[in-house]
Amino acid sequence: MKNIIIFGAPGSGKGTYSDEIVAKYGMGHISTGDVLRNEIKNGTELGNIAKGYIDNGQLIPDELMIDILAKTYDALPKGQGVIFDGFPRTIAQAEALKKMLCERGDDMGIMLELVVDEETLLARLLNRAIEQGRADDNEETIKKRFEVYHSQTAPLAAWFEQEGIRNTFTWKGSKEVMLGEIFSFLDSVK
Ligand code: ADP
Repeated sequence: MKNIIIFGAPGSGKGTYSDEIVAKYGMGHISTGDVLRNEIKNGTELGNIAKGYIDNGQLIPDELMIDILAKTYDALPKGQGVIFDGFPRTIAQAEALKKMLCERGDDMGIMLELVVDEETLLARLLNRAIEQGRADDNEETIKKRFEVYHSQTAPLAAWFEQEGIRNTFTWKGSKEVMLGEIFSFLDSVK
């Protein structure tokens, strides 16, 4: 499979669909949120820095994220394709990803944009707070994450459009329908 960038607001299902895509196509998976939560759990220096930002709904600084991303990418097996989940989140990260992959003779492949209405997003995140107990899934932090998404991340959709790799999938109330649309698209381009 080609590389895939899965893009969308907090709660749009990036992690859920990534897991399904990985299970079907057998590719690598980088979830920057999971990488950071793991560092926090292990009490590393990076984890301590990241915690302050995550708990406040803010983004970790670009230079730090870009460095983490490249290290994580280089540790994965080559040639199977990688799904990038939660990265890039800023234009600087997107430019850095493009350059990093180009330097390695790879490319960004395909971008999948998940579009979900805000009412559904909020309900999912509040539900996830109960089920998974994520510290940043409380109403105040969720509000900040939405603001950060709208101001810093959403403009990236147009950047991907210019790159000619943007593919949009809109939530119509059913995970099976959404997944079916994503799979038939991926089957047609892989
Ligand atoms: P969600 O998409 O629901 O916000 P993630 O697990 O992708 O969940 O991200 C959780 C938090 O981790 C973000 O709010 C942010 O603080 C941090 N984070 C994850 N990826 C990045 C990134 N690419 N750049 C900066 N911060 C990030």
